Amino acid sequence: MNDCVFCKIVRGEIPAAVVLQDELTLVFMDIGSVNPGHMLVAAKPHVENLQGMDGELAGAMFRSAARAARAIEAVFRPAGISVYQANGAAAGQTVFHAHIHVLPRWENDGLTFTWPVKHPSREELEKVAALLRAAL
Ligand code: 5GP
Ligand code: ZN
Repeated sequence: MNDCVFCKIVRGEIPAAVVLQDELTLVFMDIGSVNPGHMLVAAKPHVENLQGMDGELAGAMFRSAARAARAIEAVFRPAGISVYQANGAAAGQTVFHAHIHVLPRWENDGLTFTWPVKHPSREELEKVAALLRAAL
């Protein structure tokens, strides 16, 4: 993808502070870091989102996320670590090249996330689960 910013980083055409890489992933610092240590795990091939990953790439992405989390743990000894991954503009995705955010967390660090819980019935949950099973 010629004009994709993360493809350009993967190809080395624009600079990034790289932390680790393997055959399928590149991990680098987020220029819009929420906290120091905020990294992005990007797929090396251009895939737009999680739905576009095959099993091998999805596995490699989470393996690199786990390595990034262990590095955060060792360096920052944070109060917590968050993993965030957005698919689609409505979900908050702004760069349409698949990536996972991994970042250290601290009490009252200002990062908030509302989680508007509904309480569907057991029957409703079973109905939706059946639809999803049929789509696998
Ligand atoms: P999204 O909102 O799609 O989940 O996250 C995209 C992230 O990419 C943002 O946190 C933003 O700061 C980061 N980002 C956008 N452009 C660049 C760039 O050129 N270099 C780096 N290192 N990060 C970028
Ligand atoms: Zn791309």
